[in-house]
Amino acid sequence: MPPPVEHPKPARPGTVKDVDWKDFRDHLSTADSEGRRQWLYPRKVQGPFYRGRTWLSWLLLAIMFAGPFVRINGNPLLLFNIVERKFIILGQIFWPQDMIMFAVALLIFVTSILVFTAAYGRLWCGWTCPQTVLMEMVFRKIEYLIEGDSHLQRALDKAPWTAAKIRKKVGKHVIFFGLSFIVANILLAYIIGTEQLFQIVTDSPVKHLEGLTAMILFTLVFYAIFARFREQACTFICPYGRLQSTLLDENSIVVAYDYKRGEKRGPWRRGQPLEQRQAEGHGDCIACRQCVTVCPTGIDIRDGTQMECVQCTACIDACDDVMQRIGRPRGLIRYASLNGIERGERLKVTPRLVGYTAILFALAVLLGVLIFTRSDVQTTLLRAQGALFQQMPNGHFSNLYTIRVVNKTSRAIPIQLKLENTKGELQVMGQDIVVPPQKQAETSVLIELDPAVMKPGTTPLVVGVYSQGRRLETLKTGFIGPRDDSAR
Ligand code: SF4
Ligand code: SF4
Repeated sequence: MPPPVEHPKPARPGTVKDVDWKDFRDHLSTADSEGRRQWLYPRKVQGPFYRGRTWLSWLLLAIMFAGPFVRINGNPLLLFNIVERKFIILGQIFWPQDMIMFAVALLIFVTSILVFTAAYGRLWCGWTCPQTVLMEMVFRKIEYLIEGDSHLQRALDKAPWTAAKIRKKVGKHVIFFGLSFIVANILLAYIIGTEQLFQIVTDSPVKHLEGLTAMILFTLVFYAIFARFREQACTFICPYGRLQSTLLDENSIVVAYDYKRGEKRGPWRRGQPLEQRQAEGHGDCIACRQCVTVCPTGIDIRDGTQMECVQCTACIDACDDVMQRIGRPRGLIRYASLNGIERGERLKVTPRLVGYTAILFALAVLLGVLIFTRSDVQTTLLRAQGALFQQMPNGHFSNLYTIRVVNKTSRAIPIQLKLENTKGELQVMGQDIVVPPQKQAETSVLIELDPAVMKPGTTPLVVGVYSQGRRLETLKTGFIGPRDDSAR
C-alpha cells in the first residue's frame, strides 16, 4: 500500500466535516466522529471504464435473470436447494453424497479468490459483484433518473416536503421495492427452482407460507440494502473487503493514485503555464476532488489503497476527464501496483502467486477427476437388520440384504445386480429396480450361495450394479454362514 500522503486538506463536502483528515484510516468515510451515518451523493460518472462496466453489467444482469429459466437436459442451469439438499450446476445434479466435490469446489473458489486478489486486487467487486452491478447500474441509475445528479439529490433532501418531493421520493421507493421483489424472486428461483416459485405465486398463500415468508424477507433485505444500506454492505458486511488487506501486496494491481506524478497537489490557476506550476513544485493533481465526488464509497483514493475501495474505476474516469481537459496525460489514477508507481515495475509473478496457482491447479485436477469418475447412481447394500443366514431345502445358504439406489440423473435408470466374485443366486424381491429421475429406490435382495463356495463365518462378496449392460458401480459386502465347516 502506498504510504499515506501528508497534505493540507479542506473538509469533505457532503461527507465528513469534523474528522481530522490525517485520521482517515481510523474513520469510516461515511460516518462522522459520533458514528452517525453520512449519506453519500456520488456524482454521475462518464468515461470508457464506466461504459465498459455498463456493457458488462447488462450481460451479467441478463445471465442472472435468465439463469433460473435456462434448461440443460431438462435441468436448470443453477439450483441451490438447501432445504431439499439438491444442487444443480450447469445442468448436472449433485446430491449430499457428492459433498466431497462441493468441498473441493469450495476450496477452488476460495483459492481463486486468493490468486485473483493477490494479482488483480478487487477486480471482482468493481466489475462483477452482484451488489455493485445492481446498486450502481440499476438502482443508482434509477435514482439519477428520478432525482437528478448528486447536487440535485442533495438539494432535494434538504428541501421542505412539497408535492413534487413526495412524488419523487415515493415514486423512487415504489420502484426500488418492486425491483427488490423481482431480485428476491430470482434469488428464490435459484434456491427452490422456477416450478416451485411459480406454484408459490399462483397457489393459495396458505399452502406456501414458508415460501412466501422467504420471498417477503428477501424482498425486505434487498430493499434495505439498495435503498438505505448501500456502500455499507461492502464496508461492514462483506468479508472479502476486509480480507483485502491480508491478500494485497506491493505487486497487486489496484486502482491507485500516482502520487509521484500527482503531488504536490494544488489548484491550477487559470492561464498559469505548466512550467511555472512545475517550478513551484506542483504535480499533476489540481485538487479538483472530482475523483472524490464520484466515489460511491466516499473515499479519497489519493490517500492510498483503502478497505472501502471497491475498485469501481469511477475515480479513473473522473480524473482522466480532468487530465484531458487540462492537457495532461491520462492515468494519474489508474490500474497499477505500488511497485509499478514507485519503481515503474510491471506485474511480477511472486512466489506467493506461484504457490496459490499450484494449489489451484492441483485442486482443479482433483475436481476434474471426481467429476469424471462420478457415477450416475449411488448404491448402498446392507444386510437386512436382525436377519441371520438361512439354510434352504437344497442345502444352499441365503442372506437377506437391503439395497438403496439414489438416481443422480434426470432420467429413470433400470438397475440389474450381479454377483461378481463367486457363483450364486441373486434375487431382487418384488419388481425389477427402476429408479425414477432424481429419486431413490429401496428394496430387498436375497443372495443364495452353495456351501462349496462359502468360507467359514463370513464370505466376502462383490456385487456389480448394472444398467442396460453397463456397470455403474461395484459394491462389497459380506455373506454370513456357519463358522463351523461341519454345519455346512
Ligand atoms: S480528479 Fe485527479 S486531479 Fe482532480 S483531485 Fe482527483 S486526482 Fe487530483
Ligand atoms: S476510490 Fe475509486 S475505485 Fe475505489 S471505490 Fe472510490 S471511485 Fe471506486
